[in-house]
Amino acid sequence: MNKPLVAVVGRPNVGKSTFFNRIVGQRLSIVEDTPGVTRDRIYADGEWQRYAFTLVDTGGIEIKSDEELFQDMRMQAEIAIDNAQVILFFVDGRQGVTSSDHDVADMLRRAGKPVILVVNKIDGPSNDAIYDFYDLGMGDPMPISAAQGLGIGDLLDAMVAYFPDPDELEEEDEAIHIAVVGRPNVGKSSLVNMILNEKRSIVSDIAGTTRDAIDTPFERNGKKYVIIDTAGIRRKAKIEDASIERYSVIRSLMAIRRCDVALILIDGREYATEQDVKIAGLVHEEGKPSVVLVNKWDLVDKETGTLEQHRKRVMNNLSFMNYVPTLYISAKTGQRVNRVLEEADRVVENTRQRIPTGVLNDVINDAISVVEPPSDKGRRLKIYYATQVSTRPPTFVLFVNDPELMHFSYERYLENHLRKAFDFSGTPIRILKRQRN
Ligand code: GDP
Ligand code: GDP
Repeated sequence: MNKPLVAVVGRPNVGKSTFFNRIVGQRLSIVEDTPGVTRDRIYADGEWQRYAFTLVDTGGIEIKSDEELFQDMRMQAEIAIDNAQVILFFVDGRQGVTSSDHDVADMLRRAGKPVILVVNKIDGPSNDAIYDFYDLGMGDPMPISAAQGLGIGDLLDAMVAYFPDPDELEEEDEAIHIAVVGRPNVGKSSLVNMILNEKRSIVSDIAGTTRDAIDTPFERNGKKYVIIDTAGIRRKAKIEDASIERYSVIRSLMAIRRCDVALILIDGREYATEQDVKIAGLVHEEGKPSVVLVNKWDLVDKETGTLEQHRKRVMNNLSFMNYVPTLYISAKTGQRVNRVLEEADRVVENTRQRIPTGVLNDVINDAISVVEPPSDKGRRLKIYYATQVSTRPPTFVLFVNDPELMHFSYERYLENHLRKAFDFSGTPIRILKRQRN
């Protein structure tokens, strides 16, 4: 199961980024080698005591007017409420309580999620400034100084107290979590409704599944699933486009991070647009298995070969994830919708595969004997040994004489060779290089 998510919410300038950076230190790793993907520092992993968690910076846009501030705070609160296990509500201890602090407090209170009220910029020993914040009705304010590093330990202690025990986290929930992602209007809600209405038995009040109101558990053929909702961004949005874009990315990312499999919906009248590619790129980079669902196929005039041609053009745009299967569906007529969960199951199975070391090395050696590893300035790459270190996604370590000698194209070749030998369709795989002399 995934790590607990902690959302950091608050007005601009209260010190959210300062705190974020302090917690994550140097551990921030943002990968940006997928075309079309640009990412803010939205997520970072942190650790405290025995607990691993993911911190989400929900804020961070430029605010120009009060109206925008209000919309921004509402978006932050909504995202936090929908997705986080704990919310850190940041306020500014130097400035005192403001009206927008009250607005946010109201929104958070109604959601019923655990909230810790963090009064930042308490740089010295005197805590008097925090008492005003009792007015917000969010319980005891916790004083910190993100800049000076004061009070951070107490805050993290209070935060992890809301987390499930890490030892129990593993077995918590065997249901397959499905994120349905895609641009507005591609048919996400229609598909979700169709899946839920068909052969459905919605399970309510299962321990552990109630924590997110937006998650819908159901069963099919005795198997448990949970659909994670990513809708919403259009609902009330009145703020400027750049912010909407940022918030849709955060929302999609939140869902993707929590899922076992992503269903990437695109519109069959197009061929994976720039924004589709961006969303698919997020799924790929998060290491999640996926299926591309080409929806609204009922609206497309078809002749012999239409589907194959369409698939070719889509895959051309998604060339960085050439492993992904496509399924042509109509969430309106129901065409092939019954195959969606089968495909999801299949790619989940593929991402959980463990390849025995002996077999893996046979395949790698075979690849090496067919195409010799690259060399540079007279030195040739030597691959001594391979082993799979983890699943979801399948991750392999190659012990080599010098990782620098591994060429991108050769790595791609090895990946393709592995994909020929094993069924990794639908799942990314990762290849790491370690030096051994
Ligand atoms: P954000 O907009 O909420 O992410 O806020 P920032 O982290 O960018 O901080 C806004 C300003 O407050 C910056 O000038 C920080 O240096 C300052 N700041 C942040 N934390 C503290 C603190 O604990 N004490 C003081 N005095 N200033 C702080
Ligand atoms: P979402 O914004 O991605 O959740 O998209 P919706 O499910 O709300 O669908 C947007 C519009 O497309 C609605 O008018 C749907 O009825 C329509 N729609 C969704 N799927 C299909 C489909 O497969 N075929 C057709 N013809 N229309 C569809």
